[in-house]
Parts: sequence; C-alpha cells; structure tokens
Amino acid sequence: TFNFCAGPAMLPTEVMQQAQRQLCDYNDLGVSVMELSHRSAEFTQVAEEAEQNLRDLMRIPDNYAVLFMHGGARGQFSAIPLNLLKTGGKALYIESGQWSVAAAKEAAKFGDVDVRDIRIGKGDIDLSLFGDTSGYDYVHYCPNETVDGVAIYDIPSCNSPLVADMSSCILGRDIDVSKFGLIYAGAQKNVGPAGLTLVIVRRDLIGQQHTATPAILNYQLAQDNDSMYNTPPTFAWYLAGEVFKWVKGLGGVAQMEQRNQSKAQALYQFIDDSSFYRNEVNPSFRSEMNVTFQLHDAELNQRFLAEAESQGLLALKGHRMVGGMRASIYNAMPMAGIAALIDFMDKFAQSHQ
Ligand code: PLP
Repeated sequence: TFNFCAGPAMLPTEVMQQAQRQLCDYNDLGVSVMELSHRSAEFTQVAEEAEQNLRDLMRIPDNYAVLFMHGGARGQFSAIPLNLLKTGGKALYIESGQWSVAAAKEAAKFGDVDVRDIRIGKGDIDLSLFGDTSGYDYVHYCPNETVDGVAIYDIPSCNSPLVADMSSCILGRDIDVSKFGLIYAGAQKNVGPAGLTLVIVRRDLIGQQHTATPAILNYQLAQDNDSMYNTPPTFAWYLAGEVFKWVKGLGGVAQMEQRNQSKAQALYQFIDDSSFYRNEVNPSFRSEMNVTFQLHDAELNQRFLAEAESQGLLALKGHRMVGGMRASIYNAMPMAGIAALIDFMDKFAQSHQ
C-alpha cells in the first residue's frame, strides 16, 4: 500500500516498526514511551536528542530557538501575530494559495495586516510582486502550498523578518535557516504525528508578545521552559525524533532533496507526456511534495479513485477547493510508490482512452 494523503501522511516504514516495538516497552523499562513523565531522565534524553538532530539536519544557528509546540500550524496562525506584532505595528502576508490566505485571515484578528496576492492566473505566481517589504514587523509566506501544489523555491529577499509556513516542505529541501526570522511546521507531513508543531525562531524576536497571548502560544514561556511549560505532546516528540534519525541515516536533507526531486520529476514528466492527464502549474512553481493533476475527463474521477484504491494507491483525491487529483509524495514516499502510481495511471489511461 502507498498512502498519498496530504496529511496526516505516510511515515517511514522503518520508523513505524521501531515505534511499534517501543510502544509497549520503551528500552526495557516496562512502560510505553508515551507513559514516561516528560520530566524523567529518559524522556529528557529523547527530547534533547530530537532537538539536536533537527539542529544538525537543518544547520540551525545557535541564535535560533527550536520549540516543540502544540496546536498544529493553525495554532501558529494565531501565535505568530500575538508574539511578533509590536504595539501599533503591522505585518505583511503574501498570498500564493489556500494556506497563506488562511494564515492572513487569522492574523487579521489580532492586529494590522496588509495582504499582497502574488497569484497571476491559475497555477502561476509573480515573485516580483513581493516588492518592497520595509516597515513591517514581519512578512509571512507559505513556500509550499499543499492544496494548490504550488511552491516558491527561491527564498524571497526581504527587509523585515521573514516568516515561513513550512508545514508541507520542512526537511524536503536544504535551506539556509539564517534567512528567516521564523519557520514553523505542523508535524503531520514530513515530521510525525499531527498536533506537534515545530517553531524555529530567531531569539531576538522572542519577548515582544501581546499581554493577552495565551500561555501555551507564548514563545518566551516555551523557550524558558524548554517547550515543557505544559505537558508536551511526548509521543509525537519521540516519533519526530525517530524521523530525524531516519533522515540522518539516509544521508541528511541534501540527500532527501535529491530523492524528492527525482520522484517529482518522474511524475510530472509522465503527466506532461500524457494527453490523458494534465497539470496546470507553471513548471517553475510546481510542488515537489504535492503533485496535483486532472484527468482529461472529470467524469472518470470516481472510477480512477476506486481502481487506484483497489490496487493499494490511497488518498489521491484532490482537495475540495481544487478538485481533480493530488498525489502527496513527502519524504517517506519511496520511489517504488511513484513507480506504482505511474504504472497504474498509464494502464488506466490506456483502458479509458
Ligand atoms: N499550513 C499548511 C501549508 C498546511 O498544509 C496545513 C495542513 O495541514 C496547515 C497549515 C494546517 O495545519 P494544521 O492542521 O496542523 O493546523
């Protein structure tokens, strides 16, 4: 079975097998990893090792805090303006798809927000519309739009702290963390179980939170308490640590990037060569993580999904806002999954021409 779900997404098989062993008896302690006190020596080791491995993988500089928070990426849609907007300040939200639009809408509840839509037509964006960003407390964008299958690979030059929603692309490509003020990601695509949320934030941006910021969204409290102000999502944190070890074992993020490029290239190439399927995103902005595609005849959609599922190719239905199909091919998806999908798509096209 290959699971093409956009999230919660497939996790590496090796990690799931290891987690299964540790689930009931963690390192012969006689208790599950999820039954350990978050203050125990055993869990402290799990937590510290996970953070160090993430720091190594992403080469996170020391002047950045790594926070393991609750509440998913949407929790951060609220936390970011509450923590980063100064009194009387303003933020800029760049819109390139469904998730950046949702982030802007949430932020506007908490302060003054300008919005710049950089989409030009369907599946294309104009990066020059990022334009002058001076005077803002921060500029928010989403480098990988999970729903639309649109990605921005070049890190935009920006003269305000750049905030990026990397929920669906973190650890998928090697990036220079020092170009960002804050990076955040819901865990459920490339990292681990849903709920856990990674926040990588430049330390000088911490401490300016609005007085009404809920304690569990407060970066200062999270940093000062090593992400244990309240009980952290311990099992998710443990599993994320196992995923980080797995990425390291495969050679790190640069290796992951090569693998992801090969996978995406193979699938887009097949779609482009076919008259049965199409992808309408400008090739420069096509997501390597979420490959959207349409069948030439939408009447065949249900049959396509049912036949795919019967062959163990799951969750290919596109998001309801976009329609068609979407194959989410995050880090854990092996090349064999892409090969199986292409083989199925080819046979389906031949039998329904
Ligand atoms: N941002 C992006 C880019 C996403 O793909 C998602 C979907 O999971 C979210 C935000 C929302 O994340 P969550 O459901 O963890 O709040």
